[in-house]
Amino acid sequence: MGNDRIDLRSDTVTAPGEAMRAAMAAAPVGDDQYGEDPSVNRLQQVVAERLGKEAALFVASGTMANQIALKLLTRPGDEVIVGQEVHVAWHETGAAPANAGVQFAAIGRGGLFTAADLDAAFKPAGHVVYPPTTLVVVENTHNRGGGIVFPQAEAEAVCARAAALGMASYLDGARLFNAACATGLAPERLAAPFDLVSIALSKGLGCPIGSVIAGPAETIARAIRIRRMLGGAWRQAGIVAAAGLHALDHNIDRLAEDHANARLIAGALAGAKGVALDLATVQSNIVVFDLAPGAPDAATLVRRAAERGVLLVPFGPRRVRVCTHLDVSREACAAAAGILCELLAA
Ligand SMILES: *Cc1c(COP(=O)(O)O)cnc(C)c1O
Repeated sequence: MGNDRIDLRSDTVTAPGEAMRAAMAAAPVGDDQYGEDPSVNRLQQVVAERLGKEAALFVASGTMANQIALKLLTRPGDEVIVGQEVHVAWHETGAAPANAGVQFAAIGRGGLFTAADLDAAFKPAGHVVYPPTTLVVVENTHNRGGGIVFPQAEAEAVCARAAALGMASYLDGARLFNAACATGLAPERLAAPFDLVSIALSKGLGCPIGSVIAGPAETIARAIRIRRMLGGAWRQAGIVAAAGLHALDHNIDRLAEDHANARLIAGALAGAKGVALDLATVQSNIVVFDLAPGAPDAATLVRRAAERGVLLVPFGPRRVRVCTHLDVSREACAAAAGILCELLAA
């Protein structure tokens, strides 16, 4: 095992390569709390431009970006509409009710929903018993749904309906560049319908740290205070912002390789004994599959795969996720697929 292991647990496991480390070492820095870190300022400007928003703020993680968005766009007691099994409700250890005091209403199926679903779930402000619905969150790509893309026409319809209802809209775009790669649509186009959007640098883009949240200048100015409330104010963060700038220049076009590798693994798994996998859900760098009765359960498969040097994560008692990224080659993905098929055939 050791260096031979094939780590498909997450696209967060990537380590910065030599060129990224060199960019980090050479980064001009300053105290960001005084607005004086040139690398952070440049990253924020570049991301704002790429996403077609007025301003952007560099933050420590996608979770912090999501928590800031909730605090910016809601008040305690509000209800937030989300798709099923979104990161902000499932993967943030209860942060949203603790920090922003909001509750969630999950609508639609598999992470997707329509403007009609939104209409049906909306609760108006001023009602004697309802919590006011003030925000809709779209996750694109959707992690637990298998890395699926939120259809852009539906995103546009959802945001238009939300605006008409007086609600705000937020795009959790931790993997927005994967969605752009999968659809051929520019990130700016994908972000356009939303009031606020965040992207992760530490997932498929291969940075060690960081996310960026973008939106109107007035909203981002308020986000600076919330970031500090959450303990996330930076000092010489240019050293990590430089990794982000490097990734935006070098690690976007290659996401197509990760997507092709995910399809390679999914194709093999779809034919394996005991696997239930809808290939239509394999749209980016993630493969989520179910283990049928009679097949090993998720914990067993994950353990046996690890013994063979292939690392995966269980997503449920009989559900497993595979995630490709820039530190696993096509050969490694083919080898991993072979090992998984062998284990399932046994
Ligand atoms: C990973 C992820 C985040 C946040 O991740 P951090 O680990 O906090 O950086 C947010 N949203 C989605 C959809 C994610 O996949």
